[in-house]
Amino acid sequence: MADATMTFVRTVRGDIEPARLGPTDAHEHLFFVTPLQPGDEMADLGRAIEEARALVDAGATALVDWTPLGLGRSPDGLLQVSLATGLHVVGATGVHRDAHYPADHPLRAQTEEALALRFVADIVTENPPAGVIKIGASYHRLQPFEQKVFASAALAHRETGVPICVHTELGTMGLRIVEHLAGLGVPPASVVLAHLDRNPDPGEHAETAATGAWIQLDGPGRTKYWPDSTILRLISDLAGSGFSEQLLLGGDTGRSTVMRSYGGGPGLDYVFARFKPRLERELGAGLSRLIFVDNPARAVAFGPRSPAPASLAT
Ligand SMILES: [Zn+2]
Repeated sequence: MADATMTFVRTVRGDIEPARLGPTDAHEHLFFVTPLQPGDEMADLGRAIEEARALVDAGATALVDWTPLGLGRSPDGLLQVSLATGLHVVGATGVHRDAHYPADHPLRAQTEEALALRFVADIVTENPPAGVIKIGASYHRLQPFEQKVFASAALAHRETGVPICVHTELGTMGLRIVEHLAGLGVPPASVVLAHLDRNPDPGEHAETAATGAWIQLDGPGRTKYWPDSTILRLISDLAGSGFSEQLLLGGDTGRSTVMRSYGGGPGLDYVFARFKPRLERELGAGLSRLIFVDNPARAVAFGPRSPAPASLAT
């Protein structure tokens, strides 16, 4: 664990020691607008603050917002939420999976290097900075635009040590994504794989976790797809396989219809108000502390930098 004292988490209010994050919701969206979800737009600051306050009341002290470029991302909005509620908020730069962007979206025309420079600029700016790069994969494949974004994210990681947070489509390709990023110079310990509970297969999760990557389950409250008991069983199975120190939990409330402040439900606080207490009752407080406190503090901390890629060195 060389350099452990030099790690930090980059929040919208500045860098903090990882241990100061506290109980963390590892995947949320306070602002999100995409053509894929018409009628589900979240762009209102007052409502974002209202949801964040409920999350704080339920015991959270930190939140990671995964909204990337072009989809309603609002660094200043995240800062306002953080200032109003006291939450540590980690924001994202990056680009989501292909389907979120129309054919003529300007991000598509950017070169690999230009995208990498944009990601780095968003990470090193002070007003307010991103603390993770969000990228996305399609169902069982990486489309050409996604491959370019993955390469750009890897360049930016090597330049900054920033964690890379990956949307998996229906939980597919986790292992392949980790291997692909490793081939681009991103160590598995800097890769967070989201939505793996959408393919609730503990054997596949264990195989992916064996690489050292972060396994994120983020579907509590998605009752129309599966009950929370499914997620609890996945957690129990992964902990039993020895991977309790690589698990992350989030709510991923990326739609206004799941936010109470917009008239929907169950709300941003569901993970902390309902799921976390149940996890503690059924699987114990120690495992809960790992998943909500100790693991996120390591997962969203910046890793050591590689030598800067030549293409970005100027
Ligand atoms: Zn998300």
